[in-house]
Amino acid sequence: MSQLSPSFLQALTGALGQDAVLTGNAIPDHCHTDWSRISPLAPQALLRPTDTSQVAAALRLCHAHRVPVVPQGGLTGLTGGAVPSPGAVALSLARMNRIEAVDPVGRTITVQAGATLQAVQEAAHAAGCIFGVDLAARGSCQIGGNLSTNAGGNGVVQFGMMREQALGLEAVLADGSVLDMMRPLYKNNTGYDLKHWFIGAEGTLGIITRAILRLQPAPRARATALAAVPDCNSALALLGRLQARAPGGVAAFELMWRDFLNLALACIHAPAPFGNEYPLVVLTDLTGTDEAELQVVLEDVLGEAMAEGLALDAVLAQSQAQAASLWRIREATAELPPEMALINFDISLPRAELGDFADRCIEALARRWPGHRSLRFGHLGDGNLHLSTDANSLGGMSFEQAQHEVESIVYGLVARAGGSISAEHGVGLHKKPYLGASRSPAEMTAMRAIKHALDPLGLLNPGKVFDLA
Ligand code: FAD
Repeated sequence: MSQLSPSFLQALTGALGQDAVLTGNAIPDHCHTDWSRISPLAPQALLRPTDTSQVAAALRLCHAHRVPVVPQGGLTGLTGGAVPSPGAVALSLARMNRIEAVDPVGRTITVQAGATLQAVQEAAHAAGCIFGVDLAARGSCQIGGNLSTNAGGNGVVQFGMMREQALGLEAVLADGSVLDMMRPLYKNNTGYDLKHWFIGAEGTLGIITRAILRLQPAPRARATALAAVPDCNSALALLGRLQARAPGGVAAFELMWRDFLNLALACIHAPAPFGNEYPLVVLTDLTGTDEAELQVVLEDVLGEAMAEGLALDAVLAQSQAQAASLWRIREATAELPPEMALINFDISLPRAELGDFADRCIEALARRWPGHRSLRFGHLGDGNLHLSTDANSLGGMSFEQAQHEVESIVYGLVARAGGSISAEHGVGLHKKPYLGASRSPAEMTAMRAIKHALDPLGLLNPGKVFDLA
């Protein structure tokens, strides 16, 4: 049962409408947690505004009554960022899903924060453009959630993360005031660029309600290849050559270690792409204007790389269907066996250190648990390693204990390497205990000062990213 006072609930209903304020059993179970399934908790109420003025009215009331608010987007987050905090109401952006305008000439799209990533991609496509960010949760995740987590995905090597796509933003602060930064300007050096405070803030500084995002011209052609490489630094050299020959045209450069590749092939029942087993493979997409030209670039660069030992083998997709089947291998992350109990990492490192670091992790885990099972894949162009360790291969300890021990080992290595414990998924609840591995005490003090300036009562998404004290 909701502990909120009847007068507060009545005021909310008056401001937002009866159907926009759900309590008790009317709140769907899926709003109790996000994709991570961490610490599920029913919110005191679920607020479902339809526009910015309703978000502002809701936050004004919550501020006056000292009620914490947790913003919820598509709930595909992997760190528990959108999980209701104790005593909080959840505010869902799902009904604020309008695509307000697409400008193919200025190459911008203006949307409400609850528009799904896929809806934005489709609207861009209909206007002859593309949107620069793509990730597998595209059908459910929302632009507000993507901005709040500064999401990445496969296209970062070409167009950057969500931060790079944002031209304008509208956000509502904890006290209900609206910060209108909706300017479609590529350049604007007039003091602090406040919109960036809300990007990657995971809903702790304000609720993003609208955005103006960059679009890119749609490429006319695409070519895909899978190449076996001896090590990560050879793969990086290969990436450099592709970028030099196809400037701006390397749309993806995904690295898969043998441990991941073999399991992925088994999961999707696909044949091995090469006659031999190799330690590492990279999947790359080039985009441009002419497919035949892109194929020539791939053939030339891969041929040279093989002659010099930077590549060991290669498959060039001869059709879109063949390209799609190569991409299915990389996207098998969504089809890994459910009986595996995966402890997942999303680590960022200087690109040239990623290979050695991945090996160091495996060696350290093997010293503690000989025969453990881990998988490695990543976005090499962005220095982003995804490492997953199967807790079931660690000798029968509980998942929680296994997770704690594995995280202590891996995050200890991250701290020593000067890397980041979160390349693209955020901190939320799950990574909060380890934030000190990637942020100095001075940085933590500055972050708390910003939080205090914008949300002095600590009402927005409390307990996420870091604690106030
Ligand atoms: P939610 O999970 O609802 O919320 C995430 C955080 O943002 C929470 O802290 C929440 O409070 C806050 N928030 C949500 N909306 C707002 C708003 N309007 N204003 C303020 N705060 C808000 N992530 C990547 O970066 N790259 C990937 O390649 C990737 N692949 C994925 C694949 C799968 C299959 C899945 C399930 C997830 C993947 N993710 C990936 C993680 C996830 O999709 C992203 O973090 C995404 O950006 C979350 O968006 P969401 O709308 O679901 O946000």
